Amino acid sequence: MNTIRCSNTLRDMMSEHKRHGRSVGFVPTMGFLHKGHLSLMKRAKAHCDHLVVSIYVNPLQFGAGEDLDRYPSDPEGDAEKCESAGVDTLFCPKTLFADSHATTVSVAGLTAGLCGASRPGHFDGLATVVARLFGIVQPDIAVFGEKDFQQLAVIRRMTKDLGMAINIMGAPLIRDTDGLALSSRNTNLDPLEHQRALSLHQALQFIQTHPSPSAKERIQAGMALLQADRVDYLQIVNPVSLQPIQQIDGPARVLVAAWIGNTRLIDNMAI
Ligand code: AMP
Repeated sequence: MNTIRCSNTLRDMMSEHKRHGRSVGFVPTMGFLHKGHLSLMKRAKAHCDHLVVSIYVNPLQFGAGEDLDRYPSDPEGDAEKCESAGVDTLFCPKTLFADSHATTVSVAGLTAGLCGASRPGHFDGLATVVARLFGIVQPDIAVFGEKDFQQLAVIRRMTKDLGMAINIMGAPLIRDTDGLALSSRNTNLDPLEHQRALSLHQALQFIQTHPSPSAKERIQAGMALLQADRVDYLQIVNPVSLQPIQQIDGPARVLVAAWIGNTRLIDNMAI
């Protein structure tokens, strides 16, 4: 496995692979890797000749007062995990944005609600860094987790709107054995908080299997189960438009974002 820190070096290497007809797969991450990330790598690996994983904690997608400064990191452990997962190139840039950087990629509509409403500017920062990473890596395919369901929709839309020839593949959300959605941020939970965090998954399951066709009734029932300090949202939406729905008479997705202590967690489930 190569470890590359310089964007230009990586771009030249990937251009060379493509000249030789080798397809490039890409999994962008912020590190502190877990089994959720590894499942994305496995999926990507099956669809490309050369797999690139990036580890970059993108400052643009963190708002003021968010957890950028305490985002967990384990560079050595991450490198070992990538090596065992068969990653060909690990891209760990120090920074991706020069001081003179002047371009923002902004996807309208899909970013208005859910995490877009509770984290203003988050999706602009995300789309901007992913567009930049796509420009450097030039992947044929890129894999994103359904754990970040709105993010996946935003990246699909950006790729389509900007005419990028990249196949965006989704991968299922991976949970711990107790049901908690795997997240790098789970490491910030103390044991009592971890117990309370399980209520997110429990509420989603309750909503998923609730007999009422009314979204409002299901949300009320689910809300009562949440043991969070604050709930940013608990919503049932159309899985494509991400618009809230009133009646459940077709495919739907329930999504939650909630604070357990100082940690903001997200989770979602198909209905
Ligand atoms: P992150 O490092 O949190 O920015 O996540 C990098 C990628 O891994 C994103 O595409 C996430 O959706 C995905 N991911 C994170 N956690 C999980 C999980 N529990 N299951 C599946 N994919 C995940």
